Amino acid sequence: MSEEYHYDLVIVGAGPAGSSAALAAAKNGVKVALLEKENSIAETVRTSGVTWIQNIKEFGIPDDCYNPIRKFSFCSPNNEVTISDSVARAAVLDVRKTYRWLAHEAEKAGADIFVKMNVNDVIKNETGDIVGVRGTGPKGKTTFHSKMVIDASGFTSSVSKAMGFVTQWKRFGAGAEYEVKVEKVDSDTWWLMVGEQYSPAGYAWIFPLGNNIVRIGVGVGKPESNVDPTQRLKELMEEKTGPIKKLGKITPIEFHYGLIPNDGLSRKTVFNNLILVGDSAGQANPLVLEGIRYAIKYGRVAGKVSSDAIKSGNTDEKSLFPYEATWRKEIESKINSAGKVQDRWIGLTDSDWDKELDIIKELKPEEFLDFIKAEFGLSNMIKLATHHPKLAVRQLFNLVKGKTT
Ligand SMILES: Cc1cc2nc3c(=O)[nH]c(=O)nc-3n(C[C@H](O)[C@H](O)[C@H](O)COP(=O)(O)OP(=O)(O)OC[C@H]3O[C@@H](n4cnc5c(N)ncnc54)[C@H](O)[C@@H]3O)c2cc1C
Repeated sequence: MSEEYHYDLVIVGAGPAGSSAALAAAKNGVKVALLEKENSIAETVRTSGVTWIQNIKEFGIPDDCYNPIRKFSFCSPNNEVTISDSVARAAVLDVRKTYRWLAHEAEKAGADIFVKMNVNDVIKNETGDIVGVRGTGPKGKTTFHSKMVIDASGFTSSVSKAMGFVTQWKRFGAGAEYEVKVEKVDSDTWWLMVGEQYSPAGYAWIFPLGNNIVRIGVGVGKPESNVDPTQRLKELMEEKTGPIKKLGKITPIEFHYGLIPNDGLSRKTVFNNLILVGDSAGQANPLVLEGIRYAIKYGRVAGKVSSDAIKSGNTDEKSLFPYEATWRKEIESKINSAGKVQDRWIGLTDSDWDKELDIIKELKPEEFLDFIKAEFGLSNMIKLATHHPKLAVRQLFNLVKGKTT
């Protein structure tokens, strides 16, 4: 059996990028299909879900979708620091609830959602441009004809790969995580754990979700390290290394595993009739490899630009370029700056990390948050690089600015 559909816009992948693009495009009056290969939205969780309350509010995500975080603790082999903010500005998302809410908003705006729809091929016109996709769904082979496609398939970049526009990411993060019930936890404190024993090129984490539930995870940079994050996580949990010990008895609930691109903003993201967004575009803050807020924000921009182009009758690369211009203007230089700090962090030895924590200790909560979020506004950086009372902090921000002396 085979089925055939006609839409203005087909979006592949119902993660945060795809659902957000679907919402914006459907709201703007075009006919949208959102295709997801899993049995339900967010069936598999592949992320730790840390994000920022300011962004959550801006996106309208309901308050019951997250646990607020006010204190940021770090530990290295021989050092520990906690930065306490006066109010909670960070959050750990209930990922499933949030991603389902995003998809439901798109559906309410008029988008049609197809789950169990695994896209495995593209349809091209006589000039080689994309004009739809083919997939395998509950009723067998399914064809979706469309004026435009958005590739929101995440790390795999299924559509752009099938078009021959991209190859596999070379540099990426691999992360393994257990969501667990614990005996004791401070529910507004996160932990980032750095140094060889936690991760040779990355970090380990404890992110609380409330109700004594936490996510304990390990992220490892590839190809920098060949450590298997799942194996390292099991070792850390068995040995109850560092702050894991403070959690008392640990009862696993669910295992998560995922990959996130870390090749910088190396990809072109607009082609005739096609936009790449979210992880498929490599839109992630390299400092802590967080991409959810960019996926939502630029998903919405991609949906708006695509639907405007569809309505104007011209969906060529030039008409879609405002999307690429917008995200590059807003995040390219910040992500490049964060990449420099990440390069420094990957090279640190255990004793260097002990010293790095002494520098982090000197940051005020708002300075720390701008730093970890890669919100390197030029005036902020210049202020910190020139006027911070501590030399080590000035040096760190001079590095961010690109000054080597
Ligand atoms: C271990 C780990 C921890 C992370 N922690 C954080 C964090 O704390 N905070 C943060 O902001 N970011 C974090 N990230 C990154 C974040 O998860 C991503 O940046 C974000 O999910 C990108 O959203 P997306 O919509 O582009 O892709 P995804 O969330 O990957 O969504 C893609 C969707 O497309 C579907 N799909 C794929 N291929 C096809 C196909 N062929 N046909 C149909 N559907 C398809 C998938 O099933 C999936 O639902 C983490 C990543 C990892 C790996």
